[in-house]
Amino acid sequence: MLIGVPAECVAGESRVAVTPETAKKLVAQGHQVLIQSGAGLAASAPDAAYETAGAQTTDAAGALGADVVLKVRAPSEAECAAMKPGTVVVGMLNPHDAPGLQRLAAAGLTAFALEAAPRTTRAQSMDVLSSQANIAGYKAVMMAANAYQRFFPMLMTAAGTVKAARVVVLGVGVAGLQAIATAKRLGAVIEASDVRPSVKEQVESLGARFIDVPYETQEEREAAEGVGGYARPMPASWLTRQQAEVAKRVAQADVVISTALIPGRPAPTLITEAMVQAMKPGAVIVDIAAGRGPDVHGGMTGGNCPLTEADRTVVRHGVTIIGETNLPALVAADASALYARNVLDFLKLILPKEGGIRIDLEDDIVAACRVAQDGQVTRKA
Ligand code: NAD
Repeated sequence: MLIGVPAECVAGESRVAVTPETAKKLVAQGHQVLIQSGAGLAASAPDAAYETAGAQTTDAAGALGADVVLKVRAPSEAECAAMKPGTVVVGMLNPHDAPGLQRLAAAGLTAFALEAAPRTTRAQSMDVLSSQANIAGYKAVMMAANAYQRFFPMLMTAAGTVKAARVVVLGVGVAGLQAIATAKRLGAVIEASDVRPSVKEQVESLGARFIDVPYETQEEREAAEGVGGYARPMPASWLTRQQAEVAKRVAQADVVISTALIPGRPAPTLITEAMVQAMKPGAVIVDIAAGRGPDVHGGMTGGNCPLTEADRTVVRHGVTIIGETNLPALVAADASALYARNVLDFLKLILPKEGGIRIDLEDDIVAACRVAQDGQVTRKA
């Protein structure tokens, strides 16, 4: 099979869908890998490394002309036009973006959005949300430590004692757990909040304290259970109590890492402007939900904090708010390494050893990820 890897064209996207390591494996499986020259450069993978792995370098048209095109981000309008109908496209294709899916279908592409894979044990090795969120959680803490003008660990020195930083993590999914683990390694004291009660144990096992907000009604308990491991919107009654608890902790925090998301919905507002006003001068918020939540102008460039500005770092009421929307791209080499392995594992499901492409809709992962085929959108956005 001819497998093409175009360079990513979204601004700031430094990841690549195939690394020399996975190119070598694809070639060993009998595929021909055509990678656009320079596609891996920002992820520390020069053309020579791909050539050593047995891939061939080409231009954008060469990569997009392949039978199977591997991407990090959804193809642009121009990329869709450059691919022949029937091309199989695999990438993070935004399964919640209806116009985007329509564009893939209109181009006649057979498209697989890896974010739509079920959160099951079998799908774990191809779970791009986890592999990339893990990196986002790590990098968020690194950025916070960089912007924070004090130490993270407690230090006892001849010149006196320095207190450990207090870190509050809001939303304890994959990114939140990694943020806790990373902040812990740096010596911070950590508290964390989530709507899902099941994360309490995980938070405590990492040495952080869980901010308990007991459920008082059946409706609250049911919503908290979520669906498929994901959060559902919580009733207003619980959110009000959660906000009061979180507000107390945020007021004392040196660093807040917020990661709260609900699939297919705007990110919930957890840090209001009044809460930012009450924070200590010099405190830092890294809002991993940046660009997915309401902002103060009535738009959607905020995150879990409406003062967050997507892709900008701003100082509001003495607090630095970091709104980087693509944290994994700032750890491009490892983010690509993990993403490329996810892609490689997914390909095993649709590229059988005997050759050709097999789209087996009895396979729950293939069925869940398929978003377009034969000119039709095959999944409700
Ligand atoms: P996510 O990115 O969708 O959301 C981040 C976190 O925000 C979640 O923990 C969510 O509960 C939380 N959240 C939502 N609203 C909130 C609010 N108002 N206040 C506080 N927190 C709020 O989550 P994710 O990282 O994709 O993980 C989702 C779940 O899937 C987790 O349980 C994770 O452990 C599970 N998971 C399972 C597998 C597997 O079994 N293969 C793989 C990966 C993740």
